[in-house]
Amino acid sequence: MTIAFDNSYARLPDRFFARVNPTPVAQPRLIRLNRALADDLGLDADRLSEPEGVAVLAGNRIDPQSEPISMAYAGHQFGQFVPQLGDGRAILLGEVVDRHGRRRDIQLKGSGSTPFSRQGDGRAALGPVLREYVVSEAMAALGVPTTRSLAAVATGERVRRERWLPGGVLTRVASSHIRVGTFQFFAARGDGDGVRALADHAIARHYPDAAAAANPYRAFLEAVTFAQADLVARWSLIGFIHGVLNTDNTAVCGETIDYGPCAFMDAYHPATVFSSIDMQGRYAFGNQPRILQWNLTRLAETLLPLLADDEAAAIAAAEGILGRFPGRFEQRYHAGLRAKLGLATTQEADIALARDLLMGMAEGQADFTLTFRRLADAAADPARMDAVRALFVDPTRFDLWAPRWLERLDAEGGDRSARAAAMRAVNPIYIPRNHLVEAVIEAAVDRDDFAPFHRLVETLADPFTERDGLDAFARAPEPHERVLQTFCGT
Ligand code: AMP
Ligand code: MG
Ligand code: MG
Repeated sequence: MTIAFDNSYARLPDRFFARVNPTPVAQPRLIRLNRALADDLGLDADRLSEPEGVAVLAGNRIDPQSEPISMAYAGHQFGQFVPQLGDGRAILLGEVVDRHGRRRDIQLKGSGSTPFSRQGDGRAALGPVLREYVVSEAMAALGVPTTRSLAAVATGERVRRERWLPGGVLTRVASSHIRVGTFQFFAARGDGDGVRALADHAIARHYPDAAAAANPYRAFLEAVTFAQADLVARWSLIGFIHGVLNTDNTAVCGETIDYGPCAFMDAYHPATVFSSIDMQGRYAFGNQPRILQWNLTRLAETLLPLLADDEAAAIAAAEGILGRFPGRFEQRYHAGLRAKLGLATTQEADIALARDLLMGMAEGQADFTLTFRRLADAAADPARMDAVRALFVDPTRFDLWAPRWLERLDAEGGDRSARAAAMRAVNPIYIPRNHLVEAVIEAAVDRDDFAPFHRLVETLADPFTERDGLDAFARAPEPHERVLQTFCGT
């Protein structure tokens, strides 16, 4: 088979990447192919499922038009700058232009060592591959900008982590893999031409309108700032915690990228952290907006020479743009909260109302997802408020809150069942809860049973429609099922 790759990144200067082929694996076995995504990309899903296609997805066969490269990048990891990271276990096979005319990267993750591997083996364990597949596809179904998962392959090889584990390769699809850290890679080397070439490439690819602005680089910074503000607002509205929001894990296209120890909150609390390596809670749920603004500030620093001729003017321009992040975030977040509460109109007190609910959820240890979902039922029929109340260990605050909300709904008027339907369209019932994800990984890794993985992926493909027989996917974990920590477990 031949994939119609067109590799714009590989046409950039040599110092942007290293040319490297995937390292073949012993026994590639296709675990799952995302047929809908394959179609969208204009790829032939049937042929990709055949041995020749699977060989491409495993890195055992280089498609004729592929020009495999690993990308150079740097990044701040937990606030510490590392001048060289790069694709240590990922190889970009090339780009395709999809059915909608959008250029998309097709990358293998776990496909062998590259010049950026450092001490690492360039491989991925199957568990994290399945985890990224489940969560990234769930995010897409939830309407959140994200990289996608085209395929998961088991390699038939073992990788050494804390113990020996089965290996896997994920085929990841992204609008691009250009990160804040990619800009930092060149800036840290004093390579202003590199920064400019990268910015021009990113503008042409992601923000073509910026090219026509008086200063395209200011327009670019503003566009990335807004895209990231919008993205973190989406995360905040569904309880998603990225877990490792380093600058190398912040994509300028505005897609969620690099699913490691990420997690969805069960019980709501802004200080929630799952990642075992995030000791200080730097990347806690409620810190994410602030952290993304910090990451954007690092991007702005790399662009300063392009923002104005003199430094003071450049800094003023950057500060002006970055200063719009909180307002943009709030605008999106608040609009989302209103929708979650079924409010079609805007009133001054709405955000205080939403915040009071969240505070009650934090105090009452209420499940974030189910609280909003069951509020939709209560919007249809206030007698069903008891089912919401039952989600609170301590409903003291909620009891004060519920009548205020019902009063607000009454004041707005309108059709109850229409409101409930609108609420259900934004408040999911099925999310990739930690205990569900861990259970499917365990079945796959320990028992070679992939049926639970497939079932979870299929359930999460339609997160907003409650269906019979799927209670196990909707309910919150029992205390003994709760997952308290997630691991990078690369
Ligand atoms: P991540 O934690 O996935 O954001 O990765 C951080 C950096 O470590 C990136 O440069 C990765 O390419 C690199 N890395 C992570 N795991 C491996 C591995 N198994 N082999 C080589 N490099 C790795
Ligand atoms: Mg990363
Ligand atoms: Mg990575």
